[in-house]
Amino acid sequence: MEYNTNSLEENWMPFTGNRDFKKSPRIVVRGEGLYYFDHKGGKIFDGSSALFCCPLGHGRKEIAQAVHEQLLQNDYTPPFQLGHPGAFDLAQRVARITPDPLNHIFFANSGSEAIDTALKIAMAYHRTRGEGQRTRFVSRERAYHGVNIGGTSLAGMVKNRETFTGVMPGVVHMRHTWDPKQVFTQGQPKHGAELAEDLARICETYGGSTIAACFVEPIAGSTGCLVPPVGYLERLREICTQHGILLVFDEVITGFGRTGAPFAAQAFGVTPDIMTMAKAITNGCQPMGAIAVKDDIYTTIVDAAPENAIELFHGYTYSSHPAACAAGVAVQKIYDAENTFEKAAKMSGYFQEALFSLKDMDCLKDIRGYGMMGAIELKPKGAPGALGTQFQKDLFWRGLHVKFTGDSGIVAPAFIAEEKDIDILIDLLRKALKEL
Ligand code: PLP
Repeated sequence: MEYNTNSLEENWMPFTGNRDFKKSPRIVVRGEGLYYFDHKGGKIFDGSSALFCCPLGHGRKEIAQAVHEQLLQNDYTPPFQLGHPGAFDLAQRVARITPDPLNHIFFANSGSEAIDTALKIAMAYHRTRGEGQRTRFVSRERAYHGVNIGGTSLAGMVKNRETFTGVMPGVVHMRHTWDPKQVFTQGQPKHGAELAEDLARICETYGGSTIAACFVEPIAGSTGCLVPPVGYLERLREICTQHGILLVFDEVITGFGRTGAPFAAQAFGVTPDIMTMAKAITNGCQPMGAIAVKDDIYTTIVDAAPENAIELFHGYTYSSHPAACAAGVAVQKIYDAENTFEKAAKMSGYFQEALFSLKDMDCLKDIRGYGMMGAIELKPKGAPGALGTQFQKDLFWRGLHVKFTGDSGIVAPAFIAEEKDIDILIDLLRKALKEL
């Protein structure tokens, strides 16, 4: 095959209509602050913090510098039976902001790997305690937990499941929490806590003692920012505790300030047993995922093995990669120094008001939002998702990046955005929606 610098063909792009994209490619060549720049010289406001991973915006020199220096100093250390300083440093920094007693951090390379790891830690924990009969998992409709077989098994989004029928058995789904009565609710819907009773019913049907863990995104992100009804997460917590089920919060999107608190767990005042995270742990600058577990889970698994033995037969070649840890440490330092989460909390009110000012647009079916994230849901035209996919492309050429899943666009600007930037974002959206 001849080498052709202009060929787009060989790169099979993920979650992309490849043929369509390659006819009219949208190539980002640079990022700075709140903006992307494309190959035609266009300037694009990043309205979704890329894929919700860049709360500090793009092109932060301190992060790049830290990665550069790390690679010159120590490019790679196997994480099995060896360590390097950055891994311990980052684990401590993350553990400091997770709710107590989630003080032990296991590193992976993505949100999907974090989910697989959480599934395996839950299995190991129960087995170690002599409760190996807990083989079932509970998840929820409209859930997104990444794309590995574990996450696909937990997933509640039809397109991510229907092709892949050979997934993990024993996963039962609760209903999702969106209800037409909630349309245009800003923040937590008042009604809907009773949907948590689905978990109680699943316990009654399958036996609570056969369930290892219940996985939920505190705010379902990818499916279009479904904010939990008041009392819903609290009730899930109660039922899990009552039946000895581990509650897992997938905070891959909600972690690191998106809700205005370090994690959604703190924003909603509900402490899970395990949390998964990724994305903003490195401001998206290096691939990384992480799993925070309660002290009791760590000590149960670790103390059960002979002192000289491996306790958990799990890990990735690139767990705690030095470059990712360097990026992670640099990012946590910025979060601290710039009070990034407090800034997000302060801007949330303005952002939510601005987003909900679009309420009068005829083409919108719903707006939802909490903290520095929200969703606009378009009234569908044609097949579900067809309009959303087209609209995302049109927005790009109009100078705005907003990630759409189906007909819901997830609006989640970087926390460095000021009021005037939020105005620009909403103005771009309003003008485009007007023409729909
Ligand atoms: N979990 C949640 C809640 C997510 O939103 C995502 C990605 O958007 C994932 C897991 C998967 O993360 P990754 O794409 O890094 O594997």
